[in-house]
Amino acid sequence: MMIPVRCFTCGTVIGEHWEEFKARAREGEEDPAEVLDELGIHRHCCRRMMISHTDLVDVVSPYQ
Ligand SMILES: [Zn+2]
Repeated sequence: MMIPVRCFTCGTVIGEHWEEFKARAREGEEDPAEVLDELGIHRHCCRRMMISHTDLVDVVSPYQ
């Protein structure tokens, strides 16, 4: 699935940061904690949204 637009717990908009986080921390070599700090995502409820997300939209979309 796609990343939720807002954090489930506090409602902060986090979806806008997903592409940069994915490029730098998942596909790149940077430390995820440092990337989240630079993106301004400081609450642990928001950080877990980015850390624990799995992009399944391309896997699931053919079956809809
Ligand atoms: Zn949050």
